[in-house]
Amino acid sequence: MNFSSKLLEDAVEAFATLPGIGKKTALRLVLHLVGQDKLITKEFVSAIGNMREHIQKCKVCHNISDESVCNICTDKRRDETTICVVESIRDIMAIEETAQFRGMYHVLGGVISPIGGIGPDDINIKTLLERVQKGGIVEIIMAISPTIEGDTTIFYLSNQLKSFNVKISTIARGVSFGGELEYADGLTLGRSIVARTVYE
Ligand SMILES: [Zn+2]
Repeated sequence: MNFSSKLLEDAVEAFATLPGIGKKTALRLVLHLVGQDKLITKEFVSAIGNMREHIQKCKVCHNISDESVCNICTDKRRDETTICVVESIRDIMAIEETAQFRGMYHVLGGVISPIGGIGPDDINIKTLLERVQKGGIVEIIMAISPTIEGDTTIFYLSNQLKSFNVKISTIARGVSFGGELEYADGLTLGRSIVARTVYE
């Protein structure tokens, strides 16, 4: 791409670092901003800057949060006896969207993958065990993708949780949810949580 402006080129390069944004799309976005009032770009930049500066991980469940503890963990109307274990923050968003679950969450931040070099210590397992150790947890729901890595993770977790008196369940299989929860349609995902089965 031949740029007549270094300023334009730098902005295009910046946009093009984002996933799914190629140079052409980046140029289109930047030119869009150029055609708008300066104030709009100012607000755009400050929204992103503010988010990056202040966003943090909830120290209880590892969800994304504006405070040190997220608004799901602090919500007293939720069922504190049930924890739904998910791989990523996006899974929480997908499950919340279904409005079929009113318990707590725990974000693993990945799954165990011997081939990928990801072991139990590389994901948020220790903090989950600590939560269960504190007591009061009746059920752990594994809302993890039905992949080899996902199954390995569920198996590992269930072994770790064996000594605690908690019920372990998995979200219903047989419903196709395309690998990742976030791609599941809300109705199917909601149903699969309601129709969860005991893991054995
Ligand atoms: Zn939280």
